[in-house]
Amino acid sequence: MRHLTIVDTTLRDGEQTAGVVFSNQEKLRIARLLDELGVHQIEAGVAVMGGDEKQAISDIVKLGLKASIMGWNRAVISDIEASLACGVDAVAISISTSDIHIEHKLMTTRDDVLERMVKATTFAKREGMYISVNAEDASRSDMDYLVEFAKEAKKAGANRLRYCDTVGILDPFKTYENIKTLIEKTGIDVEMHTHDDFGMATANALAGVKAGATHVGVTVNGLGERAGNAALEEVVMALKYLLKTDLSFATERFVEVSEYVARASGRMLPPWKSIVGSNMFAHESGIHADGALKDPRTYEAFRPEDVGLERQIVIGKHSGTASIKAKFLLEYGKEMKDEEAVEMLSRVRALAVDMKRSLFDKELVYIYEDMLKQHK
Ligand code: MN
Repeated sequence: MRHLTIVDTTLRDGEQTAGVVFSNQEKLRIARLLDELGVHQIEAGVAVMGGDEKQAISDIVKLGLKASIMGWNRAVISDIEASLACGVDAVAISISTSDIHIEHKLMTTRDDVLERMVKATTFAKREGMYISVNAEDASRSDMDYLVEFAKEAKKAGANRLRYCDTVGILDPFKTYENIKTLIEKTGIDVEMHTHDDFGMATANALAGVKAGATHVGVTVNGLGERAGNAALEEVVMALKYLLKTDLSFATERFVEVSEYVARASGRMLPPWKSIVGSNMFAHESGIHADGALKDPRTYEAFRPEDVGLERQIVIGKHSGTASIKAKFLLEYGKEMKDEEAVEMLSRVRALAVDMKRSLFDKELVYIYEDMLKQHK
C-alpha cells in the first residue's frame, strides 16, 4: 500500500472561514486532537500576522507532537522568516498560477510569479525546511505553465506541490486527468487541496489520490473558505472503505473531534453531515429500520462505533410495526403484541403528522399508556 499523508489545515484555511476565530487555547487543543487522530501534518497558521497567531504557532510547535507542523506563507521572504521564528519544521509557500489571479490580483506576469516562487523556495531550502509550494488557483491555470512552475519548484528544493482547486470548480473526472498529467510531466509529489463550492471537495481529493497524489489537505467538518474544504473525516473514511487504504487513524474519535471543532468554530454540525452527523445511524422508515434491526449492514455503510456514533431507531411518521415492537423490547423490555403495535402505529403517525416531527421516547410511553387505559 502506498503511503498517503494527511495534511490538516483546520487552523489555517478552516479559521479563514468568514466569521470564525479560534482562541489560542482552542488551537492548542485542536492541534493535540488532530495529532491523536493520526494526522501527519498540521498547517498551524500564518506567522507573519504576528500577535496571537504567531504565539499559537510557537506554542503548537512546543507541544512536541508526532505531526509535522507547517506554517503558511506568501512567496515572500519576511513571511517565511516569521514562520521560521516559530520553530516550524515545514513551510507552505503560496502564490497564484492562474492568469486570472496573476493579471487581476497580483497584477504581474507569469515570469515574475516563477521568480518570486523560486526565490522564496530557495531561501526556505537553505533554512532546512520541508517545503510545499502551493499553486493557488492551480485548477484554473494553464497546464503548460503549471508544469513549468512545478518543475522550477522541484529544482529550487520543493518537496511537493499543493494543487489548489481554490474556487472549487473541478469535478472528479477533470481532477483525475489534470493530476495524472501533472505527475507524469513533472514527477513531483502532489497534495490535493480542494474546495466544496459544487459539493465535490472530497470526491475531487479522492480522484487526485487515484491519479497519484500522495498528500491530501483537509479540515475537520470541511470548515474553510466559502463552502469549505474536503473534510478530514470524509477523506479518511472514504480512503479506508472505498479505496481500501487504511491510514490507521483513531476514527472512533471523529465525532468527539468534530463536535469540539463545531463548538470552537460556532459552526454547528448539520444532522445529515456525512460520516459524523447525528442522523448517520438514525433509522425511521419502516423498511430501513426493519432491515437495520435484522442486520445493520443492510442499511449502514460502516459501523456507528467506527466513528463514535450510536445506532438509533427513531419512531415517527415513517415507522413500521417492527420498529415499534423492537423499540419497546430493546429499551423497555416490553413484549408488544402485533395488534397493539398496529394500533400504536396509527396513533404515532397521527401525532407525528400533527407535530411535524418524530416522537420523543416519553411521548411514545404516553401513547402506549393511553392506549392501555382505553382498552380497560
Ligand atoms: Mn483553501
